[in-house]
Amino acid sequence: MATKRDYYEVLGVDKNADQATISAAYRKLAMQYHPDRNPGDKEAEAKFKEAAEAYDVLHDAEKRARYDQYGQAGLNGGMGGGTQFHDVSDIFEAFGDVFGFGDLFGGGRGYGGRQRPRRGADVRCLVQLTLNEAANGVKKTVSFHRHEHCQNCSGSGSKPGSEPQTCPYCNGRGHIIQSQGFFSVQTVCPNCHGTGKVITDPCPDCRGSGLTAKTVEREIEIPAGVDNSTQMRIQGEGNPSPNGGPNGDCFVSIQILEHPIFTRDGNNLECRVPISYAQAALGATIEIPTLDGTQPYEIPAGTPTGKVFRLKGKGMPELRSSRKGDLLVQVYIDVPKKLTKEHEEVLRKLAEIEEVNVSSGRKGFWDTITSLFKK
Ligand SMILES: [Zn+2]
Ligand SMILES: [Zn+2]
Repeated sequence: MATKRDYYEVLGVDKNADQATISAAYRKLAMQYHPDRNPGDKEAEAKFKEAAEAYDVLHDAEKRARYDQYGQAGLNGGMGGGTQFHDVSDIFEAFGDVFGFGDLFGGGRGYGGRQRPRRGADVRCLVQLTLNEAANGVKKTVSFHRHEHCQNCSGSGSKPGSEPQTCPYCNGRGHIIQSQGFFSVQTVCPNCHGTGKVITDPCPDCRGSGLTAKTVEREIEIPAGVDNSTQMRIQGEGNPSPNGGPNGDCFVSIQILEHPIFTRDGNNLECRVPISYAQAALGATIEIPTLDGTQPYEIPAGTPTGKVFRLKGKGMPELRSSRKGDLLVQVYIDVPKKLTKEHEEVLRKLAEIEEVNVSSGRKGFWDTITSLFKK
């Protein structure tokens, strides 16, 4: 076995250093040689382990006393002394929580040791809006299902008055190390599923899960301009963490109900408005629907059927912006199914006139047709 460097030297502290100094020194080294900062660097990893080993001994009054008196020899020899850190995950397991490595280094990565706090799962719900609500923004109450900590056992899962016991299979470590020759493989403890504790006397309300299902209602402020692809997040309203971490979030999907008149294309709105032949030919002021009610609009004489008029800024607002889309109004000539006597008389008269006085557009069209069938 290689001789080890003096632990005080490793941490760079005085023999009389107090706890705070030792912790600070270790924290500094741990950050410097952290594997996340030195990916693939074996030397950094060795230093990281060395520092952890030194800290493990020096921050424990009893181990430190033995080390001071006997050196390495005081730690070996089956007295439950010096910890051998086989891999980095052991170090996270031992000290990670103390120093909050996860938070410092972007967290959430499992090093396989006892689980550091994890976020609870997200939940989802749906809210339906009318087009007008989507255009103006609206407050809505949404309802969704999630879990909450059981009130009877405060989420422990154990019957009130009893406590979860340290898992005997892994001694509370949450994982087990299986050795096969030179290899040691670390796996999550199958008995406690990594929690390090087992419930021996389950809470009758939640049957030991520590959770109860709840339906929750929350009011949310929906901004103007949302559409079917918008998702809103209610932070912290999801499921609770299984191990003391933050709650998950609730994601709200938006569904916009079909409008009887308008269809939406991005921020533009489209609609079709019927006009009469006379209005198309002579020009007219017609009523056009908008989101805020109807408004008069002048169409010029000689408007063809299918013509699209663009009303700038009369569409949907853009989400989180002051811009607005346009309203595209397509007019079409509405042919009456029933005619009054007077109507019919006028139209027959019109037909007579048109017989002799075919308009230029139609003349051109018929000329083309005729030429197509000419032999
Ligand atoms: Zn319970
Ligand atoms: Zn276990």
